[in-house]
Amino acid sequence: MPSEFELIRKYFDKPARSAVLGVGDDAALLQPAAGMELAVSTDMLIEGRHFRAGADARKLGHKSLAVNLSDMAAMGAAPRWATLALALPAADEVWLDGFARGFFALAGRFGVELVGGDTTRGPLSVCVTILGEVPEGLALYRAGALPGDDIWVSGTLGGAALGLAQPGDAAAAQRLDEPEPRVELGERLRGIASAAIDVSDGFAQDLGHILERSGVGAVVEYPRLPAFPGADARQVLSGGDDYELIFTARQARRAEIEALSRELKLALARVGSIQKAASGLQVLDAERKAMSIARGFDHFAT
Ligand code: ADP
Ligand code: MG
Repeated sequence: MPSEFELIRKYFDKPARSAVLGVGDDAALLQPAAGMELAVSTDMLIEGRHFRAGADARKLGHKSLAVNLSDMAAMGAAPRWATLALALPAADEVWLDGFARGFFALAGRFGVELVGGDTTRGPLSVCVTILGEVPEGLALYRAGALPGDDIWVSGTLGGAALGLAQPGDAAAAQRLDEPEPRVELGERLRGIASAAIDVSDGFAQDLGHILERSGVGAVVEYPRLPAFPGADARQVLSGGDDYELIFTARQARRAEIEALSRELKLALARVGSIQKAASGLQVLDAERKAMSIARGFDHFAT
């Protein structure tokens, strides 16, 4: 059986191009560019909690990095470096090869370098930390939405929840297993969006985080929400794992945002508006009657 060190060297030790020092020493050395802030975020995926036992290794490699890239997108940061902490029940090289292929395929697309990590035996879990750069003062916060701002959402909602409910729906299953992080959109929203978040726990809950952090309320028109084909209202409003971006912007930015949508070939739907805090979050149906909203995903809810 290969040793821990051989496995790391074989699957995870890639030459560092933009890091001062990558895998192989006691720590990586990174040099952010002048005038940049470092954005750092960690996401953990646990077997039986975030993915089924026996989940495809390549897809897991993709998703473990994608969920972290999505956090960079939501901050308006350009992803640069990542570390990977893996607990593996066994040194299964078929699994490692698949995982590494999924991980590095996505990393390569976004110019992210794996610069370190940790490998240990244990119940299967994957923890990625990502580091990105954003020009000083230009990061997108959850706070910043003001009454009168438009609320926008990228792509479609509810596909991942549909994929979980109906694994036979191949398009929906792909949304769940291989989400596409909206990295380019996030970077282009610097200076345009007043607040942003990515949809990991469900549209209503994640918009709720913007409202809470910004001290505002919102009215959303359900018929304007970009439903994934076949997704029901609960999946659209409260399904998690879509990794789209919700953002707010002044009404004066509409034309710019519509032009950006055309340029990126990514649907951006204007779905509602920010209100004073007293309104809370209201979602209106086609008759403009308030809909009840199921809470999104909460790991500690009973
Ligand atoms: P230490 O014992 O000093 O923490 P390790 O033996 O755990 O070092 O790791 C050796 C090198 O391999 C370090 O540079 C570490 O960052 C890297 N490394 C370990 N596991 C991984 C992994 N899964 N992915 C990428 N790099 C890893
Ligand atoms: Mg170590």
